Formats: sequence, structure tokens, C-alpha cells
Amino acid sequence: MKKKWLIGNWKMHGNLASNKALIEGIRAELPEPDPRAELVVCPAFPYLYQLKDLTAGTGIYVGAQNASDHLQGAYTGETSPLMIKELGGSFTIIGHSERRQYQGENDGLMGRKSLAAIDAGLIPVICVGETAEERDSGRTHEVLARQLDAAFGYIRTAHDKIILAYEPRWAIGTGIAATPEIVQAEHEFLRQRIAIRDKEFAARLPIIYGGSVKAANAISLFSMPDVDGGLIGSAALNATEFVAIYRELLQTIPADEAA
Ligand code: PEP
Repeated sequence: MKKKWLIGNWKMHGNLASNKALIEGIRAELPEPDPRAELVVCPAFPYLYQLKDLTAGTGIYVGAQNASDHLQGAYTGETSPLMIKELGGSFTIIGHSERRQYQGENDGLMGRKSLAAIDAGLIPVICVGETAEERDSGRTHEVLARQLDAAFGYIRTAHDKIILAYEPRWAIGTGIAATPEIVQAEHEFLRQRIAIRDKEFAARLPIIYGGSVKAANAISLFSMPDVDGGLIGSAALNATEFVAIYRELLQTIPADEAA
């Protein structure tokens, strides 16, 4: 059975007290995640170790929001994926659109970062997505193909070690999610493009959607055949809403699929 994924991106929010309250809130509503759908939370770097403690034995995984493309060295201010791993992280988001927008990250860097993350034993959650202007000018597939090829050119294939996230920039933090039809069409495009390199890998690769997902729209998005879960921003900061989204995700798993 192919697993589903729900990943919370806490962005630059939180502190020791609110992080603890958020995990306790999630656990109060969901004592144990269902093995058919993995739950991951991605706090800001300084809180990774706190989250390692808070999530020990809970079935909730921890990830970072970024990682260096180097494992070690004279790179002031950077964080090695090895350090993330040592502090309890199992995942790292790579190439989030806010890093492209505010830190000038480009496709090549995304590819190198993904490779370093895999080398360190992390699962990269590689983000791709077009801007509103790129969509309006009919360049969505050109942009997605370029971003995808840059990332996968470095990685080639790494079975079960990568998650791909389709995050159209115009849907992130805007409250306007992409329609289920758009999401399905772009996920299908991404999967087909990867299948050119490796069919089996493409079929197994989890492709998740991110951009203004809430409990109210989750089921329509997650029911699409090529959607394997979600990357959640603002709604991941509210335990009740995050767990409600998780429960919607579970509903999309056919009842005859054993855990
Ligand atoms: C994100 O930051 O990855 C994201 C999807 O944000 P939001 O859910 O707030 O749109």
C-alpha cells in the first residue's frame, strides 16, 4: 500500500511554550497517528531538539524547513542536514517558494540541497510550483518541468527517499487553494515527467499538494488520484484544524486497504 502524508510547515512561528502546547493539542485529539498516513511537523531550526523530545514515542515525525547543500564546512549561518538528523529530524523541506522569493534560491541549489539531504539520511520534501504570472501566461508546465529536472538531474532516482510537493505560489498563504482539477492535472504532469526517467519510481513517488489547505477543502483535494497528501502551512499551527485535515486524509484511503 502506498502511504499518505500530512506535513505541517510551522514556518518562522512558535516558541518553547507554544510548540509544546501544539504537540499536546495534536496528541489530545489524535492519541496515535494511523499507520496508513504519516504525520510530520517542521518547526524552525532552534526547536528541532525540543520537538525530538516532545514527539518521542508518539508516531509523529519531525522535519526541518531547509537544509544546507553541504554536509559540513565554512558556511556561516548554514545548517547541515547531518545536524538536522542528529537533532531528531527525518525530513527537510527543500526549495519552498518563500525561500525562492526572499532568499533568492534557485533550481540548481534545490537540486544540490536535495542530494545533500539524501546523503545525510533525510527525506527531502522537494517543492515545485509556478507563480500566478507564470500560470496566467501559460508557462506552468515549462516552469514545473524546469524545477523538476533541476532537482532530479542531481538525484537521479532514490526509491522511497523523496517526497515531491506541488505548491503553486499563488495558493500559498493566500486562502485561495488550487482547484482539485488543477491539482490533479499538475500532479499527473509531474508524475508523467518523472516516469520518463523511471516508471516504477514515478508510480511510487508520493506527490503532495500545498497551498491554503484547510479541513473544509481537504477531502476534495486529497481525493484526487495523484494526490498523496498535503503540505500544510497556517492550518498546521492549530491542533484542531491540523488533526481535522488529517482525518479528512484518512477518509480518502479505501476501506479495503489494510494498514
Ligand atoms: C506552505 O507554506 O507550504 C503552505 C502550504 O502554506 P499555507 O497552507 O498557509 O498556504
